[in-house]
Amino acid sequence: MKAGAFHVKQSPRRFGTYEVLRLKDGVFEAGPEVLIHASGEAARERLRAEWGEARIRIDVNAFLLRDASGVTLVDAGTGPEWGPNFGHLRQELAALGIARGDVRRVILTHIHGDHALGLFDGEERYFPEAEILVPMADLAFFLDPRQRERLPKARQGAFDIAERLKRLYGARLVPIMEGIILPGIEAVALPGHTPGHTGYLLRDAAGGLLLWADALHLEEHQARDPNVGLAFDIDPEVAALTRRSILERAARQGWIVCGGHLPDFRWVRAEGQGFRLLPA
Ligand SMILES: [Zn+2]
Repeated sequence: MKAGAFHVKQSPRRFGTYEVLRLKDGVFEAGPEVLIHASGEAARERLRAEWGEARIRIDVNAFLLRDASGVTLVDAGTGPEWGPNFGHLRQELAALGIARGDVRRVILTHIHGDHALGLFDGEERYFPEAEILVPMADLAFFLDPRQRERLPKARQGAFDIAERLKRLYGARLVPIMEGIILPGIEAVALPGHTPGHTGYLLRDAAGGLLLWADALHLEEHQARDPNVGLAFDIDPEVAALTRRSILERAARQGWIVCGGHLPDFRWVRAEGQGFRLLPA
């Protein structure tokens, strides 16, 4: 793909002191077999029957935050390691005139390939000057060999990423916990998808923007029924509880939301037993 072919067409939104852009890294595709349901196997079968044969296609996003202190990214996309359907974040940054060395920090929502592999250029740092803020609970989990052994081989990729993060970024890794992590940015624990899975809230006078990472992958289905999940949730029951509670909180607080896999910025409205996401 030629440089700039994927470039950002939106205009930035402002939250507090930050200018925010959604950067689309690529599109993830899977079959309906990845659908799960926290209410159990019968609910899962029903969900899959209703879904039919259609492929699941979701955007993979990162976010660009700019303020007087420079360029901050929330997540880093996949880089080239997931093939040509991914890794477009790099062209998007180039099209915006942002060089690798301009990125001051990357805040990770969790340690999964579609959010963290873009930090690497083989065995080099892709963002040579960046500090990497990473949820401490994910670092602890994915650096623990006993946890690795409990998961099937196909699900162990995140453990390799954690090792590589430590190896390549070393002292530039900044473990974070809940609360204010940077001026105007609050980390909100959203456990379940991974143990340290974290959203970031940019507060402003009107409420703010919550980047809720992978709290939802399928906006319509998971808003209507927060017990709908995808097989990538490490603890599906906790993920479902987190999903319902963050939807409820975002609706009540009037936050605008976006995340690792939503196609655009949204409002959350309570509706019936569930919720609905509306264009913001
Ligand atoms: Zn994801």
